[in-house]
Amino acid sequence: MLDPNDPWIYEICFPGAISGQTEITCPNCKAILTVPVNDPIGTETYECCTCKVVFTVNWVE
Ligand SMILES: [Zn+2]
Repeated sequence: MLDPNDPWIYEICFPGAISGQTEITCPNCKAILTVPVNDPIGTETYECCTCKVVFTVNWVE
């Protein structure tokens, strides 16, 4: 019944694929990072994939 190649099925499997991520700028090296947003009213900690610095983003601000 389920066709894994069907784009509609793909959306159901990954509901946050479009709205659940955003672009942020690394505070250390200014690289643009595309990161997942799991808690848009709280804080998230990310590791820059370029310079490996770890930083926290507060989405409320
Ligand atoms: Zn960086």
